[in-house]
This record gives sequence, C-alpha cells and structure tokens, in this order.
Amino acid sequence: MALIELTQKGLFCQQADVYIDPWRGVDKAIVTHAHADHARWGSQAYLAHQASESVLKLRLGKDISVESLAYDQPIHINGVKISLHPAGHIPGSAQVRLEYAGEVWVISGDYKTYDDGLSTPFEPVKCHHFVSECTFGLPIYQWEPQEKVFADIHRWWAKNQEENRASVIFGYSLGKAQRILHGLNPEQGKIFVHPTIAATNEALKTDGLILPDFEKAGQEVDKNDYKGSIIIAQPNAMGTSWMKKFGNYRTAVCSGWMSIRGAKRRQSADIGFVLSDHADWPGLNTAIKATAADRVYLTHGSTASFGRYLREQGLDAVELTTLFGEEEN
Ligand SMILES: [Zn+2]
Ligand SMILES: [Zn+2]
Repeated sequence: MALIELTQKGLFCQQADVYIDPWRGVDKAIVTHAHADHARWGSQAYLAHQASESVLKLRLGKDISVESLAYDQPIHINGVKISLHPAGHIPGSAQVRLEYAGEVWVISGDYKTYDDGLSTPFEPVKCHHFVSECTFGLPIYQWEPQEKVFADIHRWWAKNQEENRASVIFGYSLGKAQRILHGLNPEQGKIFVHPTIAATNEALKTDGLILPDFEKAGQEVDKNDYKGSIIIAQPNAMGTSWMKKFGNYRTAVCSGWMSIRGAKRRQSADIGFVLSDHADWPGLNTAIKATAADRVYLTHGSTASFGRYLREQGLDAVELTTLFGEEEN
C-alpha cells in the first residue's frame, strides 16, 4: 500500500492516521496553509506551521485544537517521520514531508518559487513522490519580478492622487493583502486596509510576522482622509456599501489571473496587476525537477495539460481529482 492515498476525505496517510488538507472533518489534519480550500472546518486536531496557528483559529474558530511546528522540526507518528518545509506561497505555508521505511513523500500544498520578501522562501525537498499543485501550469504563465509590478502599482496610485482620488486595490485577505502592504511605499500616501484584512494582519503578527504599519478602513475614519490614500481590500468587498465613504476612487485587482487579457475575474475593476502567490510555468518545472521525484501527482490547476507535458518529458506524472483550487475571497 502506498504511504499516501487519495480517499473521499482527502490525502490520507494510513500508517500515521493523518490527513493532509482534508476537505471533511477528520481526527487529525495536517494543514499546509490557512486558505479556505486547504484548511477546512470540522477536524478534531490540526497540525500546522507556527506562523499559521492564530490565523487558522481566526478562520476556523478559536476553540479548534492546533499543534504547531517550526519548519524542519520533525515529529514521529507510528514510525512515520513528518516535517514541514517552506512553500513560499503565503506566510506560514508549508510543504509536508512524510517518510516511512525509506520512502519519502512531499505534499506541496500551494507554492511559489519566487521570493516575495515576506514569506519564508520555497525550499525544494528531495522525495520519491511529489504531490504538486499546478494552478498556473501552462507556458503562458510567466511572472514579472514583483519590483516591476509594484512600480506599476505606485504609478497607478500616483495618477489617482493627481486626480484627487482614492485607490482601492483588491487581493486575497490572507497572503496577497500582506504582500501588497509590504510592497507599498508608505511615503507616497496613507495606507488603509479592510477590517477583515486588519484582523488577519493582527493574527499573523501574533505568530511573529513583521508587517509595516497600516490603518483600518473602519467607521471611525473621516472620509477626507481617504483622498489620495490607497486601500487594500479582499475581492468580496468590491461593490459593497463599505466603499461608499471613499468618494472618488479607482479600483485594481492583484492576481495571477490578471495575466489573461479580459479575465472575467477582474470583475468590474479599472485595472489588473499580475501578482501571483503560485508558481508560474518555469517555477513549477524547476520545482518538480529539484525534487528528483520518481512520480509526480498533480492536484489542482491545469492538471491535464501539465500532466501530459510532464509525461512527454519522460516523467511519471499522474493527475489527482481533489477539491483544492476554489478561489479564496
Ligand atoms: Zn493557497
Ligand atoms: Zn490551493
């Protein structure tokens, strides 16, 4: 029997009796990161990286039972050596390494190979079996350095300031929002965040993440303070009454999906910036090669075409059907 199997509840290691990112409640869940498609409610006990602990409680309930580990700090369950390794996707995101009787499996969760300066950078881990995401597993996805993306964002912000407008920039509340905050120049103007992002920031800070200063865009802010400012919000705040106070504003969305011209995911935003927390095409290929895995399993994204491509390169690649990959809001 393989060390890891795909069951109705998710990826399962029978020898250790643990699931990795299960999509139903189980006794013991190892969670790669706190995004909604990987960290689901209803398990008796969670194991995650220590930078994820508070944010998991924020999202799943403060009464959940969470045990946390540092990167590369192994534990042993019934002979299985289990450790977490940086995935570079968002702060606290981890790849899970499981070793038993000389066989090594690595489950990537979501990852990016690009060092964003905020998340602990991705580290390739050698293994026999690599379970990988491939959200952007097509050659068209090739990310620009984030310095260039942030230069574009600052130019857009400056133009809005000249027009006496606020700038509202949308990105997922966990990961993308902090990356945007970290990349913005506070000398250009005031930086506000949506209350949901403020709560996420506080949780991440509790677990040791160092973030720049920000102000919460709540009831108490005078509407004149928003003029020329930039406001970071999660996509589901778009078009809500919360935005009324900003007066004249322009909107932008930050996502890897913005690389597709006319992407419907841009919704009604004025502009899109291509900023992704997933590996691009070169990143996926480099990461997979670096594992030296005998077999690669693809969990979500462009699994069919990427699997075909990897097999053409002589790799043993298999597509798995999972419930990962629903977008975060
Ligand atoms: Zn994710
Ligand atoms: Zn995912």
